[in-house]
Amino acid sequence: MKEAFHWADQTVARIIKQKGGKDCYVCASGISPSGSIHIGNFREIITTELIVRAFKKRGKKVRFIYSWDDYDRLRKVPAGISGSYENYIGRPYCDIPSPYDKDLSYAAYFENEFEQSLHQVGIDAEYIRQGYMYKKCTYKELIKKVLRNTGSVKKILNKFRKTPLADNWYPVTVYCSSCGTDNTTLTSYNNEYLLKYTCSCGHNGETDFAKQGNVKLVWRVDWPMRWCYEQVDFEPGGKDHSSQGGSYDTARIISKEIFDYEPPVYIMYDFVRIKGKGGKISSSAGDVIRLKDVLDIYEPAMVRWLFASYRTNVEFAVSFDLDVLKYYEDFDRLERRYFGQEPLSAKKKKQQERVYQLAQPGSVYKDKPFRASFRHLCNIIQINSFDKSKTAAYYRKEIKNSYDEELLLQRIERAVNWLEQYAPADFRFTVNETPVRIELPPGYIGAFQEIRACLAGGGDIDELKLSQKFYELINKYQLDNKNFFYFFYKLLINKDKGPKLAGFILTIGAEKAANLLRNI
Ligand SMILES: [Zn+2]
Repeated sequence: MKEAFHWADQTVARIIKQKGGKDCYVCASGISPSGSIHIGNFREIITTELIVRAFKKRGKKVRFIYSWDDYDRLRKVPAGISGSYENYIGRPYCDIPSPYDKDLSYAAYFENEFEQSLHQVGIDAEYIRQGYMYKKCTYKELIKKVLRNTGSVKKILNKFRKTPLADNWYPVTVYCSSCGTDNTTLTSYNNEYLLKYTCSCGHNGETDFAKQGNVKLVWRVDWPMRWCYEQVDFEPGGKDHSSQGGSYDTARIISKEIFDYEPPVYIMYDFVRIKGKGGKISSSAGDVIRLKDVLDIYEPAMVRWLFASYRTNVEFAVSFDLDVLKYYEDFDRLERRYFGQEPLSAKKKKQQERVYQLAQPGSVYKDKPFRASFRHLCNIIQINSFDKSKTAAYYRKEIKNSYDEELLLQRIERAVNWLEQYAPADFRFTVNETPVRIELPPGYIGAFQEIRACLAGGGDIDELKLSQKFYELINKYQLDNKNFFYFFYKLLINKDKGPKLAGFILTIGAEKAANLLRNI
């Protein structure tokens, strides 16, 4: 086998070694749609998707499944959703109405929201809705198997518990046929498909789970049951599931001992921090950062690049502050290196090339696309008062083909979002419409008059010459460096500081800048 340079390729080698040669490998991930899915949970599905791509690269057939655990109960109402949802606690997400769309269930709303964002980053899994699967009694035989082995399951779980499970504990919950919640207590099981229960609503009922799909396995058994049902070969898990005695540990044992199924190869993924928006994110937090919010600021390839460039056991930050500029610069550099426009050490080359390939939502572009520097773009947008078409027109000469244009428009959109929502105040500016009047000490008047004459002359001044001119005049008139730039920015944008001056003046246009110095 060729040497694997990326963790996804290395993991695939491990899966094939552990699971043996197969016609088709199954890679799984999943989550409860308990609210908007936060970017930390996106790490789960992209981890799986990168593995899926690595399988395909090796010419293997692979099934990529994503389980929507929408038959889980609503445990608590997330911040931001009406308190009246307290009434739905204990009912499955797929049977609760959406707070935002009357035609959709609670589950479907958040599932659609996430699936749409996933599609944008090139991820299209086979989505499996567990509410649908359970309700059509798909798992009836496996549920029977588990119930018949209740004693063994209990023994396994008790090994990891401080207080043992109660004598009347069953590894399933029943959704009451009267009130729809799982506030039920099982009273008997006939060793086939019949369960009797009482409910806190007062209903005493029985259910035949071969015909009524209202019986669900508890999480710690549900997870390994689905490994067995779908014949899963790989599934990652969050740090919270990966602790000693956590649900992954018990799922492994249950998979082997109850279902006689060799558990999937597993990798743990760490948390994702959010920088420039405050706090570590979790799904119970009100102000959830979704993939959608990250895509407002970062291009799809950059989102993929961020996740593909870190090993899964490393925590990293998605930033919304000034780091955004650095991330754009780093990504553009990687792209130039990929296309051989900048050197890269031989040691890093293969790994970096692989990261770049994995970052693409589709296939790699034939030629290196044109990329407007994000930092410069932010200036052009502000000089053009946030007019997107004027901004695009500024780059007209650089556009060679349809994807150059598409990528430019994508980037303009994101730069506008970033400037409007997250850019620090001192990064923002508006070019003065008319000259401002400021009191200048005598030496500065002379210097600015000379610069105005030089700019108004138009023609052949470039950034370097202009910059040299500044220092010439500072020397000639014995000016204070800091004050010179301070006054200049006041005259142009009415701020204490701004983008690098010479380049900035030329971007505004020499004539326009000269005009703003007209009252000196
Ligand atoms: Zn009830």
